[in-house]
Amino acid sequence: MILHLENKTPSGCIQFLENKHFAKIIFHEDYIQAVTTKDTVIIPDSIAPYVIDSWPFDSDFQLGNIEYKPRRSVHIGNKVIGGNTKNLHLIAGPCSVESKEQITTVAKALVKNGITSIRAGCFKPRTSPYSFMGLEKEGLLLLNEVREEFGLNIVTEARDATNIDLVLQHADVIQIGTKSMYDHGILAACGESDKTIMLKRGFGSSLQEFLQAAEFIMSAGNENVILCERGIRTFESKTRFTLDLCGVAFLKHHCNLPIIVDPSHALGHRYGIIDLSKAATAMEVDGLLIETHPFPLEALSDASQQIDLKELEQLCSSVQCIASGLSLNII
Ligand code: PEP
Ligand code: MN
Repeated sequence: MILHLENKTPSGCIQFLENKHFAKIIFHEDYIQAVTTKDTVIIPDSIAPYVIDSWPFDSDFQLGNIEYKPRRSVHIGNKVIGGNTKNLHLIAGPCSVESKEQITTVAKALVKNGITSIRAGCFKPRTSPYSFMGLEKEGLLLLNEVREEFGLNIVTEARDATNIDLVLQHADVIQIGTKSMYDHGILAACGESDKTIMLKRGFGSSLQEFLQAAEFIMSAGNENVILCERGIRTFESKTRFTLDLCGVAFLKHHCNLPIIVDPSHALGHRYGIIDLSKAATAMEVDGLLIETHPFPLEALSDASQQIDLKELEQLCSSVQCIASGLSLNII
């Protein structure tokens, strides 16, 4: 249940909600927001006079619920997505920062295609301990150089709570990866920040669990959250994961947060990335996350799914055709 309370609510009442109902409290300019678990709180007479408004919910998907607030807008650097903007934000880049030359080549291609946000990993959460784990701090410094030289927004991933502070210092948007969706250290640190957070869905997580992870960030004070659908594990083995467009429809209908679709990790092969991007655009999502590399076959991570820079150009024009028909602004 979400309660909006008057600013003059006595601290004893707030403590009661915190101690008795595990309420998460955020002090806003015009009201105090208290979010308790889904069970409808019996509001004692001592608190009732201070309640401005209340929203009972039948699940712990609350702050992100469209029944609480209409669609939220969120900044990605100097761009805004969500709300009533009808903006479609393209985010692209290699799976990993590998070298100055590689990231500069990609940055130039993005600028050429009018893309203003680069996404590249420096702290890579890998399935095998023998895989390339990213350039770590050196990679973040290269991304900083790219920001300065090309004016691009930087989206990059925090792998775990040991690097979140460093990533927060350097990134415009923090990516929480599929394997970290349940990492409470990362969720808590992101909740304390005011940076935009792109939360990827755990590949084995239900929509409810995905939304609850977003609630951890929002209830800790950071409502600048973007949801990223990147495919879930199903019985199908011909594709790497299954892009859950039904889930996207659910989120669009029930949730107030912007939604980005990542077809690259879902399919795991470059051949269908343009088709899936068109499909997601037709669903009027708020953004696409595309992996691209100058020489995909030589990539140090996710080589089979990264499109090359020529394919990126094709993708942009294909998506533009669909976007124009729907009066979406590609930003
Ligand atoms: C990535 O974005 O490169 C990545 C590892 O994504 P995910 O966490 O969705 O697998
Ligand atoms: Mn990747």
